[in-house]
Amino acid sequence: MGADSMRRTGAILLVILGGAALWWAGNGAPASASANDAMVATIAAARERAAANDPRLKGASRFEEGGWIYVHLEGDPGAVGYQHGYLLAPEIEDGFAAVSAGMIHATERDWEFFRKAAHEMLWPKIDAEYQQELQGIVDGLRARTGSKLDVDDLVAFNAFEELPDYYVPWLNKRQKAANAPNLKSPGNCSAFVATGSWTKDGQIVMAHNNWTNYRNGERWRIVFDIAPKNGYRMLMDGFPGVIASDDDFGINSDGLMMTETTITQFEGWDPNGKAEFVRARKALQYAGSIDEYTKIMLDGNNGGYANDWLLGDRKTGEIAQLELGLKAYKLWRTKDGVLAGSNWARDPKVLKVDAPEFDPENKESSPNARRARWEELLNENKGKIDVALAEKMLGDHADAVEKKEDANERTLCGHVDGSPRGVKEWDWQPYYPGGAVQGKATDSTMTKEMRIMARMGHPCGGDFLAKPFLAAHPEYAWQEPYLRDMKAGPWTEFRSGQTPKE
Ligand SMILES: [Zn+2]
Repeated sequence: MGADSMRRTGAILLVILGGAALWWAGNGAPASASANDAMVATIAAARERAAANDPRLKGASRFEEGGWIYVHLEGDPGAVGYQHGYLLAPEIEDGFAAVSAGMIHATERDWEFFRKAAHEMLWPKIDAEYQQELQGIVDGLRARTGSKLDVDDLVAFNAFEELPDYYVPWLNKRQKAANAPNLKSPGNCSAFVATGSWTKDGQIVMAHNNWTNYRNGERWRIVFDIAPKNGYRMLMDGFPGVIASDDDFGINSDGLMMTETTITQFEGWDPNGKAEFVRARKALQYAGSIDEYTKIMLDGNNGGYANDWLLGDRKTGEIAQLELGLKAYKLWRTKDGVLAGSNWARDPKVLKVDAPEFDPENKESSPNARRARWEELLNENKGKIDVALAEKMLGDHADAVEKKEDANERTLCGHVDGSPRGVKEWDWQPYYPGGAVQGKATDSTMTKEMRIMARMGHPCGGDFLAKPFLAAHPEYAWQEPYLRDMKAGPWTEFRSGQTPKE
């Protein structure tokens, strides 16, 4: 906050406090709770008015459509962060509460543990640019709500995909922790990227649905349009308060298209590496080619949130798959083909050294059953694939094991809450409230114009209702304060520089 706006805030507060003191004196009795609440609300409103005048907010905007919250952020890293923190302050507080509760519950570690890991291990290796952006988020958040969150909280929160399920199991093993919880790397998402003779127009088509628990997934509803001072303009989906897309789906103004699915049963962590959320954000911001993307992801690879990255370059029509283990990795690329993902690694070396427990032969597991369905569905539609068809595929409910329609953990549109089996590879128990929480799709033409399609909620259009679920499954009662209904919105187009509809 500048000195001017600081003085202005101070002046406003003085006036309000002065008024309140007079009111108190005049009454001759203690203020009632409601009067006290009103005073707190007035002070908060004054703080918000003062913060809204901050020059760092210039050019930023927010609107809601189709169940999504769209924010436009621009400028230097501190300004981009400040705008993010300010415009999404209520959603960041809410998302932080849900995510941190999940991290603590799963790992049986307290929040201080994660703050320390963020401060000592992650922060020193974060590029100055992203340190400034993260600090900016804290500043914007505090200006808007008077939040108590600091930068250590925010860094730990940004690492919510990597600290609990990669760092903690590695640490437990090292410390030979007795009775350590059974932590498994997550299996997030179904996705593909296709090009050449596989698509209707011969150009690239890319689609992705995000699999996660419904508690977090229902909050994964932000569309970020970021015009940074340095690097390319980006359009991506994301989570409030997090600087990377994180699920991941995004495009940039140099024609780079990226998504991923997570490697099931990945093991490994390098405490001296650079956080995945930083590398992933940097790659989308600065990579104009598949080679540049690969180089940035490999630089300081810490093994966190290890993914099979699916990439496209609309300038060349080339697509690629970067299977990014920690001890090994492999890059495949083609100008005529399709690359699909549903949480399985396929390079023999990556499987052997980075995901040794994963069984590629078990046809009944969620990753392998979805792999079989992708092969079937994509082959059936060779030469016909476009964005409209991709949207349908993301909502597909064909179970390749049962050979029938049955929305469950084995279908491309995941509904694990309907499965008595759960997903043991991710330690998702029977009827786990998780699955596909939203979907996105785009193609080369749309990318050139910086446009994507996105649908909030299950990509099939089905709703998840928290109350009847919790009544039927009391084993998930701990999630009750955070678990909400997840109702599907319509497929909605978003583009860079968009303004709200009249
Ligand atoms: Zn579905």
